[in-house]
Amino acid sequence: MFSIFYSDRFLDHDTGDDHPECAARLTAIKTKLERATFADQLEWLVPTPIEVRPVNDLLLLAHTTQHIARVTEFAASGNSSFESTSVSAASDDVARLAVNAWVDGVDQVITKNRPAFVLARPPGHHALPDEGMGFCLFANAAIAAIYAVEHLGLSRVSILDWDVHHGNGTQAIVETHSKIRYCSLHQSPAYPMTGGASETGQFGNILNVPLQPGSGSEVYNAAFELQVLPWLRSGNPELLIISAGYDAMAVDPLARMQLKADDYGRFTKWCLDITPRILFGLEGGYDLDGLAMGVARTIETCLN
Ligand SMILES: [Zn+2]
Repeated sequence: MFSIFYSDRFLDHDTGDDHPECAARLTAIKTKLERATFADQLEWLVPTPIEVRPVNDLLLLAHTTQHIARVTEFAASGNSSFESTSVSAASDDVARLAVNAWVDGVDQVITKNRPAFVLARPPGHHALPDEGMGFCLFANAAIAAIYAVEHLGLSRVSILDWDVHHGNGTQAIVETHSKIRYCSLHQSPAYPMTGGASETGQFGNILNVPLQPGSGSEVYNAAFELQVLPWLRSGNPELLIISAGYDAMAVDPLARMQLKADDYGRFTKWCLDITPRILFGLEGGYDLDGLAMGVARTIETCLN
């Protein structure tokens, strides 16, 4: 079986007309998975409701009280935004539920010793301690990693971010945590214009792999073999969190990379060879078919 954390509530974060980070992304993935040949091997799990687990303590692992209050305030006002991140009335609750889903995912992966996928939105890797940006409100991956260290007592947690954009928020939050490592492959130059190879973190715990626009399988394969996989192995992670964005697909409208669904299958296989304890969490990916295909290939690889 393969566990997926999902709730229809994630569709209620309304980013307005023609926004690339839209509810249809999740619906496209869900539909694809329900029709897949391996659909009967999927276990759909509902994240812990925010009424059951108040999320403030989890948010404080990564964010300032001011930022947390501002998201609540913006949502209450009905329609506002941080930079490119729209906030609607339901967004605060939905973003908190997303945090619960990522944290539930960590618990599940550690308990069951097998991978799981968090199919939630909004994404999180651009969210800074004191600010939302880049379609992100709360730093889901960073919170999940810090939770694993501080609440579960893990001492070696790695985050691999294969979204096409640099996860500036995740890096900013975890670079001061000695037990957490962060590696990002991303298009450069591209939004948010961070993630240079010289950014290595307070404990040498950051590895940035900037790649030129137009890069495809060959460039990515070499980056994995020469940099990413040795770095992951050397961290000997008790938990690997993957910020799984699918916007490096050739069909993606927001970036210029050339990956296909098969590439994500291969990356997944390589990571599984390092540890079965992988939590995949959705970040970007804006071509609906490409996104759904990428996620499906990732999960299919885990099941094989
Ligand atoms: Zn992205």
